[in-house]
Amino acid sequence: MASIDLHFHSHASDGALSPGQVIRRAHHRQATLLALTDHDGTSGLALARATAAQHGIAFLDGVEISVTWGKHTVHIVGLGIDPEHPALIEGLQSLRQGRVQRAQDMAAALAKVGIAGAFEGAMSCCDNPEMIGRTHFARFLVESGQVKDVRTVFRKFLTPGNPGYVEHEWASLADATGWIVASGGVAVIAHPGRYSMGRTLLERLILEFKEAGGCGIEVSTGSHSLDDRHKFALLAQRHQLLASAGSDFHAPGEGGRDVGYTDDLPPVCQPVWEALSERIIHPPINKA
Ligand code: AMP
Ligand code: MN
Ligand code: MN
Ligand code: MN
Repeated sequence: MASIDLHFHSHASDGALSPGQVIRRAHHRQATLLALTDHDGTSGLALARATAAQHGIAFLDGVEISVTWGKHTVHIVGLGIDPEHPALIEGLQSLRQGRVQRAQDMAAALAKVGIAGAFEGAMSCCDNPEMIGRTHFARFLVESGQVKDVRTVFRKFLTPGNPGYVEHEWASLADATGWIVASGGVAVIAHPGRYSMGRTLLERLILEFKEAGGCGIEVSTGSHSLDDRHKFALLAQRHQLLASAGSDFHAPGEGGRDVGYTDDLPPVCQPVWEALSERIIHPPINKA
């Protein structure tokens, strides 16, 4: 296990902990290099960065951008971004604008199958209203005793083909990658093992991503098995992509990996953090 985690969430998006809490949790697990990567926004970064500095942890500003690519939703992580960059700020802001309407449409769809009050319920589980998303609906259904766990809510209600799923147009691959690169960051394809794409389609995604300026892919992530790590390490090598590692932690007790460490990258990998040395924010020496 490496004490590096370059993908996790706070309640600035759909994580359950505050940015300070999630960094402290990673600190208790001996993390040495962290990047907070909330969905479609950067409002948690200042507090996360300050908390990392207090605890002697190196930090990268990060984000995870929602993308529509053909009929697929793909996530692109940005590492070492500049959260003050105008193109990134504007792009993310426009992307967030559709979330409240989508949530209202989801609640209307759930009402048709007998689940009342889901919009208000999801909002009550959401710290940052403009970031309302499927996870908040899932937590509402669990906390109100209607479904036993978050995983089951997704399986029965919130995934394509199920009653609470609403199609949505996110950013384009070129725009999302472009905003990250324009702000000085490295763009990384998140959790490739989660997409329902065959090899040919995945390689087409990689080629378009590289054309847009992307240069990394997650090899070690909470949803990858050992086989997946080897498979994506070879794919990264073949396409000369940098390899990233992140837990994709959201909340204690919701399944998946805890925050603060990741499985080691296979030796063929070129770790993305080696290419990011200029962007890593080091803690003050006297507090390390
Ligand atoms: P949204 O951006 O609102 O569509 O929500 C996407 C988020 O839902 C992801 O970032 C995950 O946190 C969560 N999610 C998606 N699929 C699942 C699943 N099958 N089980 C649990 N959480 C999921
Ligand atoms: Mn999420
Ligand atoms: Mn994701
Ligand atoms: Mn994520």
